[in-house]
Amino acid sequence: MENFKKLGLSAKTLETLKIKGFEEPTEIQELVIPVILKDETDVIAQAQTGTGKTAAFGLPLIEKLKKIGKVQAIIIAPTRELVLQVTEEINSLKGSNKLDIVTIYGGQSIDIQLKRLRRGVDIVVGTPGRVIDHLNRGTLNISEVKYFILDEADEMLNMGFLDDIEIIFKKTPKDKRVMLFSATMPDRIRRLAENYMGKYTHAKTKTKLTTNLTEQIYFEVNGRDKLEALTRIIDIETKFYGIVFCRTKVEVDEITSKLTEKGYFVDGLHGDISQAQRERTLKRFKQEIISVLIATDVAARGIDVDNLTHVINYSIPQNPEAYVHRIGRTGRAGKKGTAITFITPSEFRKLGFIKKVTNTDIKKEEVPNIKDIISSKKEKIEADIKDNIQENKNKAYVEWAKSIIKSNEDKTTEDIMASILKLAYGKELNEGNYNKIKPVRERGEKREKIKLNGKSRLFIAKGSSASIDTKSLIEFIAKKANVSKKLIEDVDIHENFSFVTVPFKEAKQILDVFSKVKAGKKPLIEEANQKRNSNGGNSRDRNRGRSRDSYKGNKGSKTEGGNNNRRNSKYRKK
Ligand code: AMP
Repeated sequence: MENFKKLGLSAKTLETLKIKGFEEPTEIQELVIPVILKDETDVIAQAQTGTGKTAAFGLPLIEKLKKIGKVQAIIIAPTRELVLQVTEEINSLKGSNKLDIVTIYGGQSIDIQLKRLRRGVDIVVGTPGRVIDHLNRGTLNISEVKYFILDEADEMLNMGFLDDIEIIFKKTPKDKRVMLFSATMPDRIRRLAENYMGKYTHAKTKTKLTTNLTEQIYFEVNGRDKLEALTRIIDIETKFYGIVFCRTKVEVDEITSKLTEKGYFVDGLHGDISQAQRERTLKRFKQEIISVLIATDVAARGIDVDNLTHVINYSIPQNPEAYVHRIGRTGRAGKKGTAITFITPSEFRKLGFIKKVTNTDIKKEEVPNIKDIISSKKEKIEADIKDNIQENKNKAYVEWAKSIIKSNEDKTTEDIMASILKLAYGKELNEGNYNKIKPVRERGEKREKIKLNGKSRLFIAKGSSASIDTKSLIEFIAKKANVSKKLIEDVDIHENFSFVTVPFKEAKQILDVFSKVKAGKKPLIEEANQKRNSNGGNSRDRNRGRSRDSYKGNKGSKTEGGNNNRRNSKYRKK
């Protein structure tokens, strides 16, 4: 919290951040918040989604604006999804400030928007087309805005919205502050900024949201089954040496004590632990006296260990930046590593967001089952026995062995061995050590469906490998099926396939037209079922007998080589 305070945020806001669970500002927040708060200059911020950019402009807006029922700030974003995301984030940060925020995007009932606008609003978050629509109808007045914010400006350029932005810009007063957020800074965006901005500060983050070669997988588990899943992961490994990331101190304490009770060598780290204790724990961890460290993000910062085999996201990281930091702790110095993220059904969307922003294919696998764990343990025991025999250091036991065999002459060697193994390992190999894990899959799918209310997600059997980008895909579909470009949203391009979202009516139109345009034997565009939705995974590959790999590719393919060459056979694919 201290670091948030240093940026100039009020005590009230700090309280809200605490409740929200933000512990420290992200890089872009550190750069941008003080500039906006001090009214120094306009801002160009080069930051990806996932780096906390919404709070970077949202928090100063909350500090500066009061509810007066007049539009004081307008935020333009390229897609409905982003508009909703930005609104949700600002609403969650506004605390006791009663600011009214309204969303304006195509596809949503214009009547609802009109009603909300008539009631009076303080902040408008919208997509360019629908904002212009309201400006033309005279139902939106932005002549007195104090803040004009462009979010994902480069995406807007790709989607052909820059002319629209200029139209909106011209309806705003001269003496406003302008903030432009963009992951990249192409010339046209820079020119736009120079034409419409006064003196500006250019803030650029160093963090690159790309992941290293760690194998990345996720398990769907209910909250109450997480501890069981964690113990199964630790048990199935020949060697487990890793960090388990939790969201809260309470969670760290709880898991540490439960695992200790079960006999694991673990320790916990969080902000309330004294420096002396922290140092002791780190020393024991580095020496591998404890093999599992349970920690919060902040407490794990600065831990410098190269040979971790695992990072477990027991709680999903709060943002993609944290995900990248966490998993970057394994797979270092040329060593293999596995990052496993636990996902509860309600966190599905968050996972999709992390995958998208980090351009990473996090694969769904199943929590190890009990039979596999037992056979893995047996393999381990057999290997140990073999090594021990090789070492030839059992002389002290040979006489004893002879006498056991002699006193059991009526029994076979197998009978005798079995008895010894049972006595030595029976407890460890008891299936009853494990609890049942409840499947969660159905619930996850249902949630996905709700998200698409009123719209259809379409699957296009071509992606970036066919030189398709957002703009060209929108233009292609719009032209062929004669639908408005503005209704094609949430474009998600992968290497060999893509997704778009459109209202039902247009979806039908597109599917009709494309029923005749084929990719192989199937239509080029089909309705995406929930399983092959961009968040959900790959049923289509199974349906069509394609190799899974043909679906893995994201544009930058930053993680492909590493991930796919090193599949961890212990976790079964879904
Ligand atoms: P954005 O880049 O604005 O899309 O934010 C991505 C995610 O990061 C959102 O879920 C935010 O709630 C979260 N987030 C933003 N700032 C912080 C912070 N300082 N600490 C933790 N999470 C954050």
